Amino acid sequence: MNVPALPTSPPITLDVAIVGAGPAGAAAALALGGRGLRIGIIEKSRLPRYKTCGGGVLRRAIQLLPVDVRSAIERECNRADLVHHEPSLRFSCVRDQPIVSMVMRDRFDHLLTCAAEATGAQVFAGCAVQDVRVDAEYVTLVAEEQVFTARFVIAADGVGSVVARRTNRAPLREVVPALECEVTLPEGEMAPFLESARFDFGAVPAGYGWVFPKQGHLSIGVGTTRKGAASLPAEYRRYLDLLGIGEPLREERHGYMIPCRPRDGLFDLSRVLFVGDAAGLADPVTAEGITGGILSGQLAARAILAGGLQPAAVNAAYRSTLEEALLADLRVARWLAWVLYDCPRLRVRLLRRYGPSMSELMTRIVTGETTYRAIVRRPGNYLKLLRRAA
Ligand SMILES: Cc1cc2nc3c(=O)[nH]c(=O)nc-3n(C[C@H](O)[C@H](O)[C@H](O)COP(=O)(O)OP(=O)(O)OC[C@H]3O[C@@H](n4cnc5c(N)ncnc54)[C@H](O)[C@@H]3O)c2cc1C
Repeated sequence: MNVPALPTSPPITLDVAIVGAGPAGAAAALALGGRGLRIGIIEKSRLPRYKTCGGGVLRRAIQLLPVDVRSAIERECNRADLVHHEPSLRFSCVRDQPIVSMVMRDRFDHLLTCAAEATGAQVFAGCAVQDVRVDAEYVTLVAEEQVFTARFVIAADGVGSVVARRTNRAPLREVVPALECEVTLPEGEMAPFLESARFDFGAVPAGYGWVFPKQGHLSIGVGTTRKGAASLPAEYRRYLDLLGIGEPLREERHGYMIPCRPRDGLFDLSRVLFVGDAAGLADPVTAEGITGGILSGQLAARAILAGGLQPAAVNAAYRSTLEEALLADLRVARWLAWVLYDCPRLRVRLLRRYGPSMSELMTRIVTGETTYRAIVRRPGNYLKLLRRAA
């Protein structure tokens, strides 16, 4: 293993070092702020930084945030169009409040990080963590030009988590590829896509395509649960054809990975709490990870406070609250994703019979009106019956 040379400046001592200034890291810092603790956010990029993402922030995520993020929202969609291919069906769900708020992640994440900084967190940007050592009393983080020691580390460093790798955690499983393109079209061609968040299930093998309207451009993307089986650039081209889009005026493509299964051994390491993508907490149905990032960041922070900075108590608090608030729900979502993406015949039967109510239920989940778990708990719910049969 290539161990980087230690920087010469004296270590910075923190109570909690948060690695990564995405939504998970910023949410953790916000929840820890204003309590007299020394909090540091260590981020490898200069801020604001670009992040490959559709930038669709679901209502359930917005509701979790303690800060007003309206200045970072480019467009709000009160309508979601769920378009299914094979069988060909289309359902529109409308709400008084936005179902999805569209952001560019550089501005959104930066707003959250600045809000955390205002509560007293120190931000070390342009500072990539390269090595991690966990001792009984503290954790040492070695960055390019700086060493940090901290009583706790919140690993919010995304799907490729260096903290996980340098502490020998097992690799994440069920990491799915997605391709996101920022597309500008002539004004007239853009107009039909500006009012709603559009999802096309089955437009991509075992996955979906999306169109999210932003300010002056569209985010169009494709994702699949089949690792390596699909050529996403080719699927993306087919998806543009399906949408009736010819040659965009401008197009910028970015591909990346989304982790849709919680990390094995998530709670095995004392003093290190994994959150967001680093913990594998994206929703397996929607591949949406901002909600899980914010929620887990907040729960990790609250566990550190509730556990009085005692490792065993902190670990137990994080384990029980994450299980109750998120992991149990993700287990139901994983089962639903399996039906949706891996059981084409069952999916067709379900959609033909229950399409409108399934679309409404999905909308209720993403707006935070209910959860996957609450739905299958309801006596007599058809999904519950199916789950027993599966
Ligand atoms: C194509 C695509 C489209 C998506 N669309 C959506 C969507 O529309 N809605 C949605 O909710 N989710 C979407 N997601 C998922 C979403 O982007 C992630 O789930 C979310 O960003 C996770 O947040 P996070 O804070 O855990 O990690 P990240 O946002 O990835 O933040 C991690 C941070 O850690 C930093 N970092 C990494 N390594 C180091 C290091 N060694 N030292 C210091 N800092 C480090 C990174 O620079 C980064 O700033 C999409 C993902 C992809 C790939």
